[in-house]
Amino acid sequence: MNFLRRRFSSGDLQGELRDRDDPTAAILNLKKGPSPSAPSSPSKSSSATGITRGLFSSTKPSYNKDRCKILLVVDDQHTDWLKYFRGRKIFGDWDIRVEQAEFSEINLAAYTDSGTVVDIQVTRNGTKVVRSFKPDFLLIRQHVKDAGEDWRNLLLGFHYGGVPSINSLQSAYNFLDKPWVFSHLIQIQRKVGKDNFPLIEQAYYPNHKEMLVTPKFPVVVKIGHAHSGLGKVKVDTHHGFQDIASVVAVTRTYATTEQFIDGKYDIHVQKIGNNYKAFLRKSISGNWKANTGSAMLEQIAMNEKFKLWVDECSQVFGGLDIVAVEAIQGKDGKEYIIEVNDSSMTLLGETQEEDRRQMADLVITRMQQYCKPTASMSKATSAGALAHYCMNGTPDPNTQKPPGGNQQNQQAAAQAMHQRQLQQQQAMQQAVASGQMPMPIPNVRGEDEEDTMKNLRKTFAGIFGDM
Ligand code: ATP
Repeated sequence: MNFLRRRFSSGDLQGELRDRDDPTAAILNLKKGPSPSAPSSPSKSSSATGITRGLFSSTKPSYNKDRCKILLVVDDQHTDWLKYFRGRKIFGDWDIRVEQAEFSEINLAAYTDSGTVVDIQVTRNGTKVVRSFKPDFLLIRQHVKDAGEDWRNLLLGFHYGGVPSINSLQSAYNFLDKPWVFSHLIQIQRKVGKDNFPLIEQAYYPNHKEMLVTPKFPVVVKIGHAHSGLGKVKVDTHHGFQDIASVVAVTRTYATTEQFIDGKYDIHVQKIGNNYKAFLRKSISGNWKANTGSAMLEQIAMNEKFKLWVDECSQVFGGLDIVAVEAIQGKDGKEYIIEVNDSSMTLLGETQEEDRRQMADLVITRMQQYCKPTASMSKATSAGALAHYCMNGTPDPNTQKPPGGNQQNQQAAAQAMHQRQLQQQQAMQQAVASGQMPMPIPNVRGEDEEDTMKNLRKTFAGIFGDM
């Protein structure tokens, strides 16, 4: 067994691990910086003084600015995501320009016609970096909501502008409340059975008022939506429970209660794309929360049971590219699933580097799907498709539809749609002006005019995909 000691931070566990036999090695306390301040207002220009290009260096950009797609990684600066994308290409010769910032460093404005414009203000090596850009893709590695912070306002802005994301923005929104996620785990259990999906029994209280029924002690009370062990209290007595209910009363949030499991260790099963891993984690500092304080970590073999858990969870909220299931191995020999985490999940152990590479591969795959360069394609396609329609009265069979089906596709398609509509209009005007196609004059009679518009709408839907 590989003994590792770690000091856990309130964020991603990218802390330095050290061998138990090496007492000289320092444990890094990766506490997050000051709590996020209110973001400043977005500006569309990058003419502010003190601008530095590059988050981690001030060298000139390593991307072709005319042929690049912008990836925004929401993460703290402990991980340099740039290195996982350096030299990687999409669509043959397109570069990926990586921007990285925490939610607290991001502000944005989203427009119905031009998408989401992001401003980031970060301090790197004492230098203030200010940037303004339109992200083509998003990787969310930070909790959107945690104790004392809630970045759903930014989430809304990304979705408003239809920015495709891992995990999808739709799913990120669904992860804003743990009881909401848990209710979906209950659905999974109903579907596959208690034996296959051993979910812990829980009670949900929207506020303190119903916290009257005395549970079996010891009980764990989980208050509100928070990560890294925050807001979780083990209660041993009736009086203790009353005290905690009184605390819930002033928090203006919900609470859940569940039986305290006398556990041997935590089980963490993760899925990144099609890559599966399982770990066990055991507290060695005596904290009942194995993710708080020092812990021993060991990668263990995946098995069919773990695979079923994580595969089932990966299907919630329209699909999760990155997902982790947390469970407790009880001393009674039973397993208890306690929660599921999304793309902001904690990475564990010595395989974190590999995990991040797998995340980067996944991002590249999705960017190839959702960030197709539209300018050249649209020009050729819209003009060609329109000419085909006007000459034949049917959609051009060669016209490529935007990918459809899931929510991310729809976001990407929606983002491209406005662009295409403008280009369609221009193409039509040009084709008419150059005599390549007759002016599509609708029948003057009201009823037929409506039919013509209906047909046009149908045809454009056929050519350019359903809206
Ligand atoms: P996140 O994984 O999102 O950071 P969290 O750490 O805040 O969530 P939990 O994972 O629910 O919250 O709990 C933290 C730790 O407390 C778990 O890893 C586990 O070791 C312990 N724990 C949680 N629930 C129970 C329980 N019902 N019985 C015993 N131990 C528990």
